[in-house]
Amino acid sequence: MSNKSIIYNSENIPFVKDDLGNQQVFAEVVIDIPHPSLDRIFEYRVPCDLMENIHVGARVLVPFGLKNKQMDGFVLKIKDRCDFASTKIKDIISCFDDDFVLLEELIPIVKWMRGVYHCTYIDAIRCFVPPSARKVKSSRYIETVRLTASFDEAEAFIKSNIRRASAMCKILFLLLENPEMTKEDIFLNTWASPATFKSLQNKGFIEIIKEEHFRIPEVASNLTRSSITLTPQQNEVIERCTEEYNKEKKKPVLIRGVTGSGKTEVYMRIAKRVIDSGKRVIMLVPEIALTPQTVANFKSFFKDDIAVLNSRLSAGERYDEWRRIKNGIAKIVIGARSAIFAPITNLGLVIIDEEHEDSYKSEISPRYNAIDVAQKRCEASNALLILGSATPDIVHYNKACKGEYVKLVMPERIGSGFPDITVCDMKRELELGNKTMFSTPLYNAIKALKNTDDQGILMLNRRGYAEHVSCRKCGFVYKCDHCNVSLTYHQKKGLLKCHHCGYAVYMKDTCPVCGSKYIKVFGRGTQRLEDEIRKYFPEVPFIRMDADTTTAKGAHFKILNAFSEGKYKLLLGTQMVSKGLDFKNVSLVGIIAPDSTLNMPEYKSAERVFRLISQASGRAGRGDKPGKVILQCYNPEHYAIQCAIENDYDKFYFNELRERQQGLYPPFCRIMRIVFSSHNEEDARTEAQNAAQTILALANEENEAGILDVLCQSAPIERLRDRFRWHVIVKFNDDAEYTVHRAADIILDDNNYSKVQASIDFDPVSIL
Ligand code: ADP
Ligand code: ZN
Ligand code: ZN
Repeated sequence: MSNKSIIYNSENIPFVKDDLGNQQVFAEVVIDIPHPSLDRIFEYRVPCDLMENIHVGARVLVPFGLKNKQMDGFVLKIKDRCDFASTKIKDIISCFDDDFVLLEELIPIVKWMRGVYHCTYIDAIRCFVPPSARKVKSSRYIETVRLTASFDEAEAFIKSNIRRASAMCKILFLLLENPEMTKEDIFLNTWASPATFKSLQNKGFIEIIKEEHFRIPEVASNLTRSSITLTPQQNEVIERCTEEYNKEKKKPVLIRGVTGSGKTEVYMRIAKRVIDSGKRVIMLVPEIALTPQTVANFKSFFKDDIAVLNSRLSAGERYDEWRRIKNGIAKIVIGARSAIFAPITNLGLVIIDEEHEDSYKSEISPRYNAIDVAQKRCEASNALLILGSATPDIVHYNKACKGEYVKLVMPERIGSGFPDITVCDMKRELELGNKTMFSTPLYNAIKALKNTDDQGILMLNRRGYAEHVSCRKCGFVYKCDHCNVSLTYHQKKGLLKCHHCGYAVYMKDTCPVCGSKYIKVFGRGTQRLEDEIRKYFPEVPFIRMDADTTTAKGAHFKILNAFSEGKYKLLLGTQMVSKGLDFKNVSLVGIIAPDSTLNMPEYKSAERVFRLISQASGRAGRGDKPGKVILQCYNPEHYAIQCAIENDYDKFYFNELRERQQGLYPPFCRIMRIVFSSHNEEDARTEAQNAAQTILALANEENEAGILDVLCQSAPIERLRDRFRWHVIVKFNDDAEYTVHRAADIILDDNNYSKVQASIDFDPVSIL
């Protein structure tokens, strides 16, 4: 990223006047093209006829380059002098008169994002003014893209075109994973141009279906809320938050409230108070929590004051919601991660529910963390930030314990108490000859659901049928052609799929290497669980929810709805079923092998296992029925599992803190990770090694002791989508923040993008 910013030398620059002696006005403009070479501020003159309309944050049309091509841009500043030679300066052509402007108060946050996430100005601006809103505007149509090419055609095409036509390949990859997606979703994932869609369509690879979109009927909003008397615990937390809200200098609040302690009610009451005080509210929830039930719940509380932003909205609906927010009609915005960018003025409160969720971190550039952005927005508007979770992120909890955040605890559940957890050591079950996926207690508990109204949830955190397929004779393992990972077997189509890039092949009866028949599937996934349920419990109606059954629009909702209406006895699925669901009839939760990921080379794996068990067991016993949880695992003695069984977050926290200190991981340091990927392994390695050298040299030069460790190695997933990957991991403390960002700037400046792609990530959720 070159030319960080223009150096102003206002002393030497005279005011500029026109021929009549009138004072001139200039604007600093960022061009709406996300290319590193255009990531700078360009100066333009504001012609007289635009002076009335122009404002900071406005979207304008400007002539650009030698050919004066017309381009969109955003005004970041208006000033009365210019740094550029005034004879060469060009005039702004026009100023858009619509709602898609950048709020002036958000410009410092755009600049901050560019600095800390090392993205371009326009990458950051596009978060706040999404292109879907700008380009598709009031369209009432949804365009669905469907893959029409056969599997083999699409692979073949990807193989021979991955380098030349990568945009088309990206779309095909996505569609191989989800055969039907909206054009908008594909666009948001790939930034593919309309021409790319057109060529795929012309090749006969995809078809695009245009349908008029009708709004989700609003039956839900006249749902009446049964009157709720708050518990003393809820009242106390509401008062403490209000107290903090009324302070001139506010700290963020972290609420650790066990599952079922009634946090949602608390959030709504605090939000109501803030709205009544004349301010506005943003509430972030994980995407899956944005089910129509939750939305209906909020709508019945906030009536027309609420705007909902979720990925199910058509471009037209999103545009409408955006306008309702922008124009001040909506007082509270509820949405997933990107709702933190909502154009809300007069912000008083941001609530982040299930704050531990990885999904608050963006995995595409800019790799922002919505919680950090929220903290910045709150600081800028003197608003209160509330984070809530049953199992807070260790780093955030540490901040709360140190007094950086206000720590509030809700230890008691509403209604019934905590469910009993029965632990089954599956190693022992196997010794006893049980080769099924059900321990004896789980088998009996499922059988016992019969003749009752009770329902059960089974969670197994791996989709597909089996983890991998290999030959027992020669040791051959089916691996992805494009990534260095083994393929997962999906039984229905007899396919072996790559969960990273979407590549798939048909499984053969014999080993492709030695020709033997001893080819065998190893490990267990949700599809196999489904098979075994059918076999051992033929009388039990069940439904499966995982990434493979929820690709269609609205599939989540349909599954959850059918289950809550009692059409099924069992809901089985991946960690998707462990989150935030509130079903009164669920008395049984089976958690199958949550510890299978404990050996991953990731410092967060223990935290994830603890959380998975706590969250999943929180689904049991939510009504007045006592809950029963059966936990099947292989490492019952591990502290993550022990603490989860004892339902003791603090104990887990202290254990985990000790481990993190020994291994030097957050909160004892921060992490910057730069991944270098290339078609040529040598190139990736060289750039990574150079980067590591740069960092060490800079630390040395500045005598910076806050850089604690610099690692340069091939990434655990050595090859992904045909690119070899090396990474540099830097552990540092707050003192070294400046040096680390400077090093990152130098590295990105030196990076030859055409050869090696460098992607930078601070506090990554995964280091695979
Ligand atoms: P959490 O988000 O902490 O897991 P929820 O907000 O989902 O918990 O609350 C659990 C259940 O308790 C919900 O069905 C909610 O409607 C209900 N609930 C919340 N507060 C009260 C209350 N004061 N009295 C009775 N029921 C309540
Ligand atoms: Zn073999
Ligand atoms: Zn792959």
